Amino acid sequence: MLSISVKEFLFWKKKQLSKGGNQQSFAVLLDCIGGLSTYDLNILNLNPEGNLYLKKNLDFLESVWDDHILESHPIQYLCGIAFWRNLKLKVTNKVLIPRPETELIIDIVFKIFGKRSKKLFFAELGTGSGAISIALALQFPLWDGIATDIDQDVLAIATENFINSSGQSNLRFYCGHWWNPLESFKGKLDLAISNPPYIPKETYDKLPKEVKKFEPKRALLGGEDGLEHIREIIQKAPLFLKDKGWLVLENHFDQGEKVKQLLLKNKFTSIEIVNDLSGIGRFTIGRYK
Ligand code: GLN
Repeated sequence: MLSISVKEFLFWKKKQLSKGGNQQSFAVLLDCIGGLSTYDLNILNLNPEGNLYLKKNLDFLESVWDDHILESHPIQYLCGIAFWRNLKLKVTNKVLIPRPETELIIDIVFKIFGKRSKKLFFAELGTGSGAISIALALQFPLWDGIATDIDQDVLAIATENFINSSGQSNLRFYCGHWWNPLESFKGKLDLAISNPPYIPKETYDKLPKEVKKFEPKRALLGGEDGLEHIREIIQKAPLFLKDKGWLVLENHFDQGEKVKQLLLKNKFTSIEIVNDLSGIGRFTIGRYK
């Protein structure tokens, strides 16, 4: 631990924030690399004459912050950590940084199944960092889940995140393309959930640098119209869902109506487009018959 005066630190902090970026990202840097919690950061002004302790020196922290500001390198990748709902997840550039708008997907599931303590069996297709599955497994300890991903290295990260977030054993991790790893669970799922890659090709090409340069293309690009993977997931879902089983999907801001039509075509009922907190039809849900 390095000791530094609060005055010197606050002066340095002001200089860093004047370069750009936001308070929240800066707090993540200080917490995850500097070892200074957001709580400690917020009460520094109470003791302006005192000292504080950091795990890394200011020059090192500044070099990371500069990389974030000058190269648009996401702070989550630089720190190796993303905060999502109440989870602190390890992330590397192999996984998509879980988005705040996706947090609502857990509330949607909660609304569908309520406080039902009954045992349920769910699968998440394309888990990435594991965020959705881990949150579900924690919120519903009686449920059993399988989280899949096409990449074994990604599954290793998701598995690590699950172990670090809980002492539970109600989530398993399987490797493979969409439904392929779930062959032995045909007709057994009460719920399937996915935030698949859904960005249309033209939109992907124009994504901001911090996304396009750093985040995995495979987790974002949904083919020419963005619906390539959603289409495949919906078409095969009836084979894997139980009667009246639910499919919950995240989609691009303008895809809700198209996803709804795909669900209708595949004999889903109770279809609903659910808005995110910005009023965007971000999720589409339906039930197989
Ligand atoms: N919501 C993400 C973005 O806008 C995309 C995630 C996805 O394709 N599933 O960058």
